[in-house]
Formats: sequence, C-alpha cells, structure tokens
Amino acid sequence: MPVQYRDYRHIAIGDYQAVVVGSGFAGSVVARQLAEQGGMRVLIIEKRPHIGGNMYDEVDEAGILVHRYGPHIFHTNNREVFEYLLRFSEFIPYQHRVLANWYGTYLPVPFNKTSLEIAFGMKRALTLNDKLVDAFGEGRKVTINELRSQNDSELSEIADFVYRNVFLYYTQKQWGLTPDEVDPSVTARVPVSISRDDRYFQDAYQGMPKDGYTALFENLLDHENIDVCLNIEAESVFDLEFESMAEDAKISSIKLHDMPFEGPLVYTGPLDELFLSRFGRLPYRSLDFVYETFDAERVLPCGTVNYTVTEDFTRITEFKHMTGQKCANTTIMKEYPREYNDPKTQIPYYAIINDENNAHYERYRALTSHLPNFYPIGRLAEYRYYNMDTIIELALATARAILDRQ
Ligand SMILES: Cc1cc2nc3c(=O)[nH]c(=O)nc-3n(C[C@H](O)[C@H](O)[C@H](O)COP(=O)(O)OP(=O)(O)OC[C@H]3O[C@@H](n4cnc5c(N)ncnc54)[C@H](O)[C@@H]3O)c2cc1C
Repeated sequence: MPVQYRDYRHIAIGDYQAVVVGSGFAGSVVARQLAEQGGMRVLIIEKRPHIGGNMYDEVDEAGILVHRYGPHIFHTNNREVFEYLLRFSEFIPYQHRVLANWYGTYLPVPFNKTSLEIAFGMKRALTLNDKLVDAFGEGRKVTINELRSQNDSELSEIADFVYRNVFLYYTQKQWGLTPDEVDPSVTARVPVSISRDDRYFQDAYQGMPKDGYTALFENLLDHENIDVCLNIEAESVFDLEFESMAEDAKISSIKLHDMPFEGPLVYTGPLDELFLSRFGRLPYRSLDFVYETFDAERVLPCGTVNYTVTEDFTRITEFKHMTGQKCANTTIMKEYPREYNDPKTQIPYYAIINDENNAHYERYRALTSHLPNFYPIGRLAEYRYYNMDTIIELALATARAILDRQ
C-alpha cells in the first residue's frame, strides 16, 4: 500500500486521534509509532509538495539522484536508531570524505596528519606531528580553540594555519559572522585530528539508503492509520485561542475545523511562524543551491569539497559518491549561504544559536509550554541543530511518552 495522500478540504478531523505537523524525520517517525504501536489514526499536515522534510531526494533531469535540501549522510552510534531505519530501507555502506580546496590544492578535512604534510611539507610535518602527539596524544581530536589556547609557538603555528586556511573564510560565508561571534558548539564541529583517519564521521554505523531517502520515507509513512495532506501550512488551519488579549498570553486551546483538538499535536515547524512571528522572527541562515550536470562519470575526488579560502559558495557536493549511482554523467551542487528574510520563498536551515536568540525562542515556547497535548520537536520547533539520528531518537522517545499517557 502506498502513502495515503488526502485533500485537507475533504478530511473529517474527528477521524484522527493525533495530528502531526511536518513530515521530516521528527514528524514521520512519531506518526509511524503512534499509528503502529498505539493503533492511533494520524493526520500529517505538510506545507511542502512532498514528504521527507530536508531529507527529500529525487532524480533530476539528467537522471541523477540528488538531494534538494543539502547533502544528507546517515551516521550514528545508536544501534536502535539504525535498526529502526533498516526496517524501511536497505543501506549501502558509505564513509563520507571531505577535502578543502586550498588555492587549488586539496587538504583532507578535518585537518589531519595528511593535511599537515601537504600544508607544511613532510620534514616540518614530522616535527609538528610529534608536538601534537606529545601535547594531546595519538588519535585525539582537538578543537581549533583548544589548539589556539596552547602556549607553544609550533602548536600556535598549526592553529593559525588551520584557522586562516580552513576555518575563517568558510565560517564567515556560512554564518555571515566572524568565528568569535559563532557559538562554540559550531566551532567545535571543526576539529584537528591527530591521526591518518580521513573519514568525516567516525560513527559505528554509516551509510546511505539504497533507493534514496524519499523511498525510505514512503515506506515509513506507508501505514493504514496514517494520512498525509501536502501543501498545507499549519498556521492556515490551526485556530489558536489565547487566555487573554495580552501579547504574552498563553494558548488556551488549538482548534481544528472549529473544534478544540484534544489529542496529541506534534509540531515540527518553526515555533515563531505558528504565532505569525508576533515577537519578531527567529534568526536562521538559509542556503541557495545551484546544480550543474557534466558529461563525465565523476568530476570531484570525493563526495564534498569545501572552498575554505576562495569562492562565494561554501562547498560542492557530487551525489554519485554518496549514492553509489553508476552512469555516464554526473550532477554537482554548490551551496551559497544566505540571510533568512522571507519564509515564503526561503527555507530556514540553521538556527543561529546564541543566548539572545535562545531567549527569543523561549518566549515563544512559553506560549505553549503548559499545553499537555502539544509536543514541539525537531530542528525547527526546538530551534536547535540536530543530526538525523538524534532526531529519530527524540521522535521515538516522544512517541513513547505520548503512548504512555494514553
Ligand atoms: C544543509 C544541511 C545538511 C545536513 N546534512 C546532514 C547530514 O549529512 N547528516 C545528518 O545526520 N543530518 C544532517 N542535517 C540535519 C538534518 O537535516 C536534520 O536532522 C533533519 O532535517 C531534522 O528533521 P526534522 O523533521 O526536525 O526537520 P525537517 O527535515 O526540516 O522537517 C520539517 C518538516 O516540517 C514542515 N513544516 C515546517 N513548518 C510547517 C508548517 N507551518 N506547516 C506544515 N509543515 C511545516 C517542513 O516543510 C518539513 O517538511 C543537515 C541539515 C542541513 C540544513
């Protein structure tokens, strides 16, 4: 049985025990669990014309399977999460590798022993590597800030090199901020690795869904208790009732089809948009993607090349490295970071995490925090960066919590 798509104008809301907004991993996993484990009839409301959230992929005009919202590589140390996904798709092994284009020379990223040799020459690299091993130990990953804080001229030389050539310009492009203005959790994602391991991720389980993410989502949502309405924005069908007219007044109920909806309401969209941004819009970075197809089997040496010292785009991805697709041509994608100004035409990709923005988010969260049947989860509703595996883990836990309350 395929996914059951419905026209929102013709559904009877009374037929559903749960409503889920968004069909990314957060929404789809909760929906599947409530439908399967709890026997609940679940309605998914999705504003895009397709399921799968940011994991959505499709075959382009050249016949190449491409990701439409940024390259997505699955990796996790959580066996339960990986086993869960294996129910809905076979996976092919894939270990992601990234190179930085440093004025035309490729340096492995994260910066590692091989990068050290390419950047400093074999002889100098021997000395510098000894310094790194003495200071931190073989096999360690050191954040750029940790390296910069060492009181040693040779370690500082490495730190300065990595900072200037791998980190600074890339971060400025990505965030529109200097590295010092970026949250330390972002900086920590770019370590220096004291090893030869050139894999981007070291997780125990890594791979790509054999037929792509969209096919995986089709299987995930293929359940008789799940109906999906596409092209519907939650804010256009939710009728929010407030305790008073005050700006900070909390929600007293959420109505659907003129009736307060009493069942679990799982919301995975941006919380500010639900309230029509009454306290101002939460800041995000957005991205533009530009695709190019070539009459060549492959044009890049690995899945992703980062442009750390030149170009306006941050990185180029060649999907065939990840998907394992075999054919005579190839499609690449360039990523251009942008300010996020317009929810109608842009996608909010990365929450800009800092104390001020977190407090801004909490103001919105306070409007719903007392509602026992409202569950905001996911990268948008929680205003956080999450990898796919963490989202799946959280969605499984949320579904368990909902079912425990029934
Ligand atoms: C460029 C990029 C690359 C990434 N690469 C990786 C990677 O390699 N590996 C990894 O593990 N993670 C990666 N991630 C993270 C991954 O995208 C997230 O973990 C995942 O998308 C989270 O799922 P979600 O369901 O919370 O959000 P989403 O996937 O964004 O799903 C939310 C859904 O809700 C819908 N929606 C939003 N608002 C409304 C509304 N008001 N009404 C109706 N529907 C609504 C949206 O259309 C969307 O379909 C990447 C993220 C980005 C931005």
